[in-house]
Parts: sequence; C-alpha cells; structure tokens
Amino acid sequence: VGALDGKTALVTGASRGIGQAIAKRLAADGALVAVHYGSNDAAARRTVEDVKAKGGKAFPVRAELGVAGDAERLWVGFDAGLRELGAEPGVDILVNNAGVAPAGDFTATTAADLDRAFAVNVKAPFRLVQTGLTRLRDGGTVVNISSSATRVASPMTMAYSMTKGALDVFTRTLAAALGERGITVNSVSPGFVETDINSAWLRGSEETYAQVVNAAALKRIGEPEDIADAVAFLASHDGRWITGHDLDATGGLRL
Ligand code: NDP
Repeated sequence: VGALDGKTALVTGASRGIGQAIAKRLAADGALVAVHYGSNDAAARRTVEDVKAKGGKAFPVRAELGVAGDAERLWVGFDAGLRELGAEPGVDILVNNAGVAPAGDFTATTAADLDRAFAVNVKAPFRLVQTGLTRLRDGGTVVNISSSATRVASPMTMAYSMTKGALDVFTRTLAAALGERGITVNSVSPGFVETDINSAWLRGSEETYAQVVNAAALKRIGEPEDIADAVAFLASHDGRWITGHDLDATGGLRL
C-alpha cells in the first residue's frame, strides 16, 4: 500500500527539473498526479510515460502561468483530465513548483522581468489556490517551492529572491486561513539543484561549480529527488502536524 494511495496531486512545472521529480515521487507513493507544464509538450509527455511505466497514474495539463486567466485555464484542464480518467473531481495535494528566475544582476532587471517573475512565482500560486478552493479537499495539503535565496542574500537574484519572500508570507498566511479545514500549508526551500534553470551558470566555470559544492555543509549540489523526498514527507501522514513551516532542503547551505 502506498502512502498516498487514493490521493490526487497537482504539481505545477512538472515537465522538467524539481517538479518532474516531485511528480514521480508522489506517483510512486500511489497518488494520481496531474503533471502541469507551460509549453514543453515532449517533456511533459515523457514525465507521464515514466510514471506509467512504473505502474503509476498521471496525466498532463498544459497552461501557461503568469498570464491573464492562467489559474482558471489550468483548473479547466485539470478537471477535464480527471473526467477523462473517470476519477473523482478534487485535489488533495497541490504543489506550487513552477517558477522563473530572471537572469543577471539586479541593476539589469527590467520592469517587465520583475512583473513576469512576480506573475509566475507569486500571483499564479495565489490565484491557483484562490480559484481552486472548492477543489482542494479538507485534510489536504499545499506545498510551495520557495528558495534558500530568502535566507542568503544575493544581489544576482534580487528580484527572484523577493518573489520567494512573498511566497513565504503566502505560505504562513494561507496556513492560518485553511487550518480549520485540516489543510496544511508549507514550503520547501531548495538551495542549489542542477536543473535547466541554472545549469548554464553552474557549468559556466569549474570555479563556480566548486564554490557551489563547497557552500553546502554536505559538499555536493542537490538532486531534484532530494527536494521531491522532502515534499513527499510533508504530503504524507507523517507530516500532518506541520503547517506554516518552511523546510530548508539545501544540504546545509551557508550555515
Ligand atoms: P526548471 O526550469 O528545470 O523547470 C521549470 C518548470 O516550470 C518546467 O516544468 C516549466 O514548464 C515550468 N514553467 C516555468 N515557467 C512556466 C510558466 N510561465 N507557465 C507554466 N509553466 C512554467 O526549474 P527548477 O526545477 O529548477 O525549479 C522548480 C522550482 O524550484 C522553481 O520554483 C524554482 O524557483 C525553485 N528552486 C530551484 C532551485 C534550483 O537550484 N534549481 C533552487 C531553489 C528553488 P515547461 O517545461 O513547459 O517549460
């Protein structure tokens, strides 16, 4: 029996990187997983196929976030996917993972970059929860993927870090708002995990790579699975008494 048998999960940004690992882990634990993505059909299809090949249940949901009507469109796709599978409507586990990181020093961040980062990383999770409240089941859980960038100041990622700071406030406040329904709300903050979001920068020079490795107490760069396992814990029965918390999953970054 899987820890999440009978549960339905929605993971945003699950076509690649950390979200993909989260989707696979929740499916391995028995959840039916909606694999949300923005535009990369092939990557989303691969994620769904990987889950199915291991005996899990998943379906893709495409919706560009950070644009008008994004949350509503995502839920329409989610509802349709469940209907097609003959599954009950509703969601037990919502993981707000999709995110973007504007490149470059803060002096180079344009007003458009700033708007987009807040639209995808903050406004979309907020609207997704708000427009999904009737679908979110009592006793369910919301996990937001934040970042250690809220704790370790970096002028190179100022706009990005600010969006994650806002997301942390959302997490705590939403936990207070939804607690009476038995819904827990937490965040998981990765440090450095090599994915498409940062691979070019990480691999830019051996020195950069070594600095990142050495910045973590555990002396390596994170794997998407390191984050997925932390999310699975919060989503499981074992995490039931934890709410309004930010879980540092950084391997001890800059302690
Ligand atoms: P990736 O760039 O590898 O993957 C991003 C995912 O989000 C893809 O599935 C992508 O879909 C989706 N996505 C991005 N923008 C949009 C959008 N506008 N609309 C819909 N979907 C979108 O990122 P990571 O896996 O590295 O990051 C996942 C989360 O983890 C982010 O919130 C990030 O901020 C956070 N994080 C990452 C760290 C790291 O070191 N990697 C460290 C700390 C936090 P598609 O495939 O269709 O493009």
